[in-house]
Amino acid sequence: MSEPLVRSATPDSASVEYRESAETATLPAAQAGSVGSADPGTPAPAASDSASVTAVTTSIDTLTPEESPAAPVTERDRRFMALAQAAAEEARAAGEVPVGAVLVRGDEVIAKGFNHPIGAHDPSAHAEMIALRAAAQAVENYRLPGCELYVTLEPCLMCAGAIMHARIARVVFGARDPKTGACGSVVDAFANPQLNHHTTVTGGVLETECGAALKSFFAERRRASREARAAARGEVPADARVETHSEPGSAEPL
Ligand SMILES: [Zn+2]
Repeated sequence: MSEPLVRSATPDSASVEYRESAETATLPAAQAGSVGSADPGTPAPAASDSASVTAVTTSIDTLTPEESPAAPVTERDRRFMALAQAAAEEARAAGEVPVGAVLVRGDEVIAKGFNHPIGAHDPSAHAEMIALRAAAQAVENYRLPGCELYVTLEPCLMCAGAIMHARIARVVFGARDPKTGACGSVVDAFANPQLNHHTTVTGGVLETECGAALKSFFAERRRASREARAAARGEVPADARVETHSEPGSAEPL
């Protein structure tokens, strides 16, 4: 099982780049309540609440004792992340990069979304954005205090901004994204108390599984691309020959 990741300055060099053409610990009830009672129209008091901001990245193994995770990864986290994984498979079925998200309030999933910017002709159609919009419509409120967003891939800067605007209490993500990740991998939007002091972040929940779904998607896409090029040249597709070596795309970085 993947270990939770918390706070760091350096991206994991072993991480794999996922996004190409397309493209978030149990919330204490008291904390959710305080978020909900905040006046949404009032600018955030600078740095007064910085201790509640938790950024992500380094393995828990490297943490010093005083740098413990804000909240442990729980079976509940894994259960909701599995639902986000199911949403990601809907993206795959639509030919889009498989990223999925679910919006949770308490123990209830109030919305889900999957990545589909290509089909929607919409650069903002990331899984998180879709789930945020659906949840806001469902509860008839553009603020979603006390809610948690589970997403299979580290949110980008656009989604991090929308998450802050919606006053999401907690983001839980699976795989990290060293190319566009805004929870520590490239930038750490949630670590800046002047931007946001509401959202805590937990990364690395079902990280291996979430990452595998993306890797398999891109491996398949490369295979299809090779076959298309071979067909255009009038060559016999590689899959039609007897394989005497390992799977062609297995050693390639994403
Ligand atoms: Zn995004």
